Amino acid sequence: MTRLIFLGPPGAGKGTQAKVLSERCKVPHISTGDILRAAVKAETTLGQKAEGYMSAGELVPDDLMLDLIGERLSSEDTAHGWLLDGFPRNVEQAEFLTALLDEIEQRCDSVINLEVPDDVLVSRMLERGRADDKEDVIRNRLEVYRAQTEPLIAFYQAQGLLRSVDGNQALSNVTDALRAIVDKPDVNATAD
Ligand code: ADP
Repeated sequence: MTRLIFLGPPGAGKGTQAKVLSERCKVPHISTGDILRAAVKAETTLGQKAEGYMSAGELVPDDLMLDLIGERLSSEDTAHGWLLDGFPRNVEQAEFLTALLDEIEQRCDSVINLEVPDDVLVSRMLERGRADDKEDVIRNRLEVYRAQTEPLIAFYQAQGLLRSVDGNQALSNVTDALRAIVDKPDVNATAD
């Protein structure tokens, strides 16, 4: 059983690594960014409401996100594990998730903090060239990350769940480090 939350700034490689691990652990990869991009593409009500926030690099409002994740984590295919990528992204979302997991009697094994320096993040995102990967939007996403998401590092550290991984190394080395955590979720929890 694997239940992991991927933290880390935009461009840290959360999505790439979560995809690899989800195949290895045979649990669904839940990326709120992917869900939102699919909704925008399909022009659903959610997509129409989310699009402006995403293209500005702002967070989509919690009232749209909380129901979405509540439903996703209560479905049958997530009963035996999941990898969360892109959620939670602020303290309110994290508190909602804690209460939700309590209610559905699930427990998160570890919270992975992928660490990558800012200059590397920016150049990775510029190379990727997604619709929201323009320089000014990238800058705003990093600011939003610092202000709203970074406090979750302390939030999960206080719960003894945080595991930091150096995301500034070859993809396969990052994957190896993550595999070690998945195989032994309860040892070497970072104390820093
Ligand atoms: P990245 O990790 O590169 O920032 P994501 O694919 O995770 O990319 O997210 C892209 C955009 O989708 C975010 O900038 C934000 O607008 C929106 N988004 C994704 N997840 C959330 C969330 N949990 N809460 C609010 N907005 C979100």
